[in-house]
Amino acid sequence: MSACFKRYVVCCFAVATLTATASGQTRYTTIVVDPGHGGFDRGGIPGQQVPEKMMTLDVSLRLKPLLEKAGYKVVLTRDTDVFVPLGTRVAMANSYPNAIFVCIHFNSATRSGANGIETYFYSTESAPLAASIHSAVVGGAPSENRGVRRRGYFVLRKTTVPAVLVECGFLTNPTEAQYAQTNVYRQQLAQEIARGILNRPALAARTTYTNRSSRVDVGLQPFLDQRFVRESGTHHRRHKTSTKKKSSSTEKKKVSSEEQ
Ligand SMILES: [Zn+2]
Repeated sequence: MSACFKRYVVCCFAVATLTATASGQTRYTTIVVDPGHGGFDRGGIPGQQVPEKMMTLDVSLRLKPLLEKAGYKVVLTRDTDVFVPLGTRVAMANSYPNAIFVCIHFNSATRSGANGIETYFYSTESAPLAASIHSAVVGGAPSENRGVRRRGYFVLRKTTVPAVLVECGFLTNPTEAQYAQTNVYRQQLAQEIARGILNRPALAARTTYTNRSSRVDVGLQPFLDQRFVRESGTHHRRHKTSTKKKSSSTEKKKVSSEEQ
């Protein structure tokens, strides 16, 4: 490549960047994909047969090439079965100012009948992204729509970029666990999540004011504001704090929003 052509390419890129930022919207170029749990943290509830950590990793590994094909730089917080502290995951996302952070999880509950898809966000500017991903995943899954939910999980609260956490069905539900264990279904989940990311509406910039606001835009999706729900489960507690390994012995083995 000649020096002259190189300069031309650099100039074009600079102009494109300026055009995008001049419109007032951040130009999101990177997707940080976060496969939930890993290593000693299997995810789910004690005695759960299907390990959540393997399902989240597999969906994330399938999601990566789909987003790369669409032109995004994709960073995985882990690409093997290792434990990564929540603080490290958040730090990775925050190190890319033009990133979108997408956490992949599966749900669990002591009641085997519990089923469906939930998508979480916390900051106001993440709401349209959550709604877009949720709508795509629910549309492609034979599962109940449990709604878009606003909640202060650690990984959502501490990220400075738009952040969403998708619960791709209950591994404690026989039907959903069966689906999740097939390659075809996990590929479909990855495709729907990618579609939701690519089709997202414009995301406003985060400000101190809007982040406190109760006004969020989740389109036509059912919405639950769970910002003030007291944490009682072990599963979701792990999204919230990276320091406590084990809950107290008195704590109930209740999990998921199913019981909150
Ligand atoms: Zn999880």
